[in-house]
Amino acid sequence: MQQVALVTGSNRGIGFEIAKQLALKKIQVVLTSRNPTNGDVALRKLTRDGIKKVVFMQLDVSNQVSVDGLSNEVEKTFGRLDILVNNAAILIDRDDVVASNADLEIIKATLETNLIGAWRMCKAFIPLMKKNGYGRIVNVSSGAGQFEYMATSGGYWPAYSVSKTSLNALTVMLASELRGTNILVNAVCPGWVRTDMGGSNAPRSVEEGAAIPVWLATLPDGGPTGHNYYDKKQISW
Ligand code: NAP
Repeated sequence: MQQVALVTGSNRGIGFEIAKQLALKKIQVVLTSRNPTNGDVALRKLTRDGIKKVVFMQLDVSNQVSVDGLSNEVEKTFGRLDILVNNAAILIDRDDVVASNADLEIIKATLETNLIGAWRMCKAFIPLMKKNGYGRIVNVSSGAGQFEYMATSGGYWPAYSVSKTSLNALTVMLASELRGTNILVNAVCPGWVRTDMGGSNAPRSVEEGAAIPVWLATLPDGGPTGHNYYDKKQISW
């Protein structure tokens, strides 16, 4: 059976690399981008490298109409979705902002993409996964969402941090709800990675950042669920 994977925010950065690595494993990949031109450029980069099992579909995770349109298109085209990687995220906290003076509009906008965007995607695709008795959901989170980090960070990146903590909470709830359905749900911190978000000083390449999300996306039946990972090690919430 041809497996189908969808990666949110896969026109660049870690998401692009996850899409590429999944396609190299002969999985049919739906590469998504909120900007169709950028999505098309990303798709052409892959096809130029001889990677064929990729199609592009437009997706803005902060827009319910966009998510509904995409889920209809995926169901019509493939009739299934085996792997969902919730990778799309924004980090728009100003560097000088801490929790006590955070801009609530920034918090709302961040949650809309990083938490509710992923939640929308889960709601849209879990029914299809249930129908096929198979699913792997990977929530690309961050060490910034760990309680331990927040307890010692001095309130740095408040909107981003809280959005990733809530994404972790969603991971735990879904994993618990879906136990016994063969839908495995895990969160992962990719590490500090050289992307537009991570910046050029980050120690990890996108290949390194994508490796564990890809591992979690391709877990065997009976694999772990409801955990948070850094490399292949379970980490605390
Ligand atoms: P990035 O280079 O900034 O790329 C983010 C991607 O998300 C882009 O494709 C962007 O699309 C997309 N996106 C943002 N808002 C979206 C929306 N509303 N709908 C659809 N797509 C949207 O980030 P990255 O470094 O690759 O990060 C990928 C994931 O890893 C994120 O979840 C991030 O929080 C996590 N992470 C990264 C690091 C790091 O060091 N880089 C560390 C820990 C965790 P556009 O091109 O249209 O903006």
